[in-house]
Amino acid sequence: MVDRTKLEQKLQKLSELPKEEQAKAIKTLFTRDELDSLRQNAQQSGVQKCIFCAIAKHNVPAKIVYDDANFTAFLDINPANPGHILVIPKEHYEVLPQLPDALLNAYMKLLKILSAAVFEATNAQGSNIIQNNGVVAGQAVPHIHFHIIPRFENDGIKVDWTAKKVTEKQLENIQQRIITTAQKVIGGEPVSQQVKHTESKTFSPPDTPKPAKKQKLIKVKKRRP
Ligand code: 5GP
Ligand code: ZN
Repeated sequence: MVDRTKLEQKLQKLSELPKEEQAKAIKTLFTRDELDSLRQNAQQSGVQKCIFCAIAKHNVPAKIVYDDANFTAFLDINPANPGHILVIPKEHYEVLPQLPDALLNAYMKLLKILSAAVFEATNAQGSNIIQNNGVVAGQAVPHIHFHIIPRFENDGIKVDWTAKKVTEKQLENIQQRIITTAQKVIGGEPVSQQVKHTESKTFSPPDTPKPAKKQKLIKVKKRRP
């Protein structure tokens, strides 16, 4: 049970610390229960303001193309191409690492079905399935959503980036860190809970490598057989 008065006092103490010390202090100042309670509060206030939650509850109109107890899919209001849809879990989660495992199979299966439906309905030549996590990654709505975008030759959509130059050592270093973290998550440590939509604003990769020459990620040329 969390003592609300104690929690308020700790929050006050945290706010008085210099900004650069706050992230570190969170780990020492709060108990795990207090952190869980803070997360729940943040999530509840996010839910109340969330446009996608409102769409999932049918409180805000949208052109819905699929709806069940756990998921809703609807046309994007500002589509990259006609037939661009968004597929969301009904429950409010900000970013993919927060999604409960129990929903994963059904989510992936639905993405497969709906991407086929979009393909057929739009007579597309290809598709992009995109999912942004965090403000810095271009996530405007902090409720998990997959974009399914039908693609056509010369449709002018660009999904590309400038490749960074990396050394073998940098590759090995990040490989090791990802393996270690993944193993922690598999072992049950709640690493994913640290990922937040807004926190990504202040996140920057540790060894930012230098830019190399521009590379296109996706180039859809041929019609689907
Ligand atoms: P993000 O940048 O977060 O990955 O994508 C958010 C998407 O949601 C955008 O493509 C945007 O057009 C779409 N969107 C934002 N608000 C609404 C809305 O109220 N209704 C619908 N149908 N789509 C929305
Ligand atoms: Zn929501």
